[in-house]
Amino acid sequence: MKPSASPPPIVALSAYERNGEPFSLAPEYAGAVCRAGGLPVLFPPQCPGGLDFIRRCDALLLTGGGDISPDLYGAAADESTHAVHPDRDAAEIALARAAIAQGLPLLGICRGMQVLNVALGGTLHLDLPTTVGTHVCHRSTSHTPVLHSVEILAGTTLARILRKKQVRISSWHHQAIAVLAPALRVSAQAADGVIEAVEIPENPDVLAVQWHPEHTYADDPAQQALFHWLVERARQGWARRSDRNSGQPDTVAQPGEECR
Ligand code: MN
Repeated sequence: MKPSASPPPIVALSAYERNGEPFSLAPEYAGAVCRAGGLPVLFPPQCPGGLDFIRRCDALLLTGGGDISPDLYGAAADESTHAVHPDRDAAEIALARAAIAQGLPLLGICRGMQVLNVALGGTLHLDLPTTVGTHVCHRSTSHTPVLHSVEILAGTTLARILRKKQVRISSWHHQAIAVLAPALRVSAQAADGVIEAVEIPENPDVLAVQWHPEHTYADDPAQQALFHWLVERARQGWARRSDRNSGQPDTVAQPGEECR
């Protein structure tokens, strides 16, 4: 029988409360994944079964959102802390760890990068204007994303994907990585030293950015390249898993049995 074309990889996206809806997602994430050839499915933050969910998926995209509860990285909330959802924190940290443990490709976006860092033992700046200043504007009070440049560090997975030394990105965050998790390395920085992207050096399947590629993917091939990377890594991982399965012998009828 002729083998059929490989199906689109299933990309899990972490959904969240949005506009009063407890299970929602900004549509640009799904649009960018679809354009890259992936099939987006939403993970509800109310669901504790992240491990079972991840086993059925080919990649994980951790999305943007509110603050991670500061007690998860040994800090106390202050007046800048907003939109904390303990259920979502627990679900996404479990998803991130499960994806890494199972060798699934992972792309973290904005809060998703912060989740990855906290899941692996790092900490966050509670509020960038307070701790780092406003030399670079990372978030505007007008609720409109701002654009700023980031420098891509040579020799990183991110540099291979973007093929640029500098990109202009859409930014909407008031927190950032403070202490980098031991397993991570920095792959992009803003002019004020804020960490803008991270990856796991010995794992080419884990990458996260502090900015929002889903804001500008439609007009910026460099940003769309991040979603293509995720889907392509998922496709390669899917092929590896299929190879493993195809190595298993088929069950054959034993003496005295027949197949009907
Ligand atoms: Mn920024």
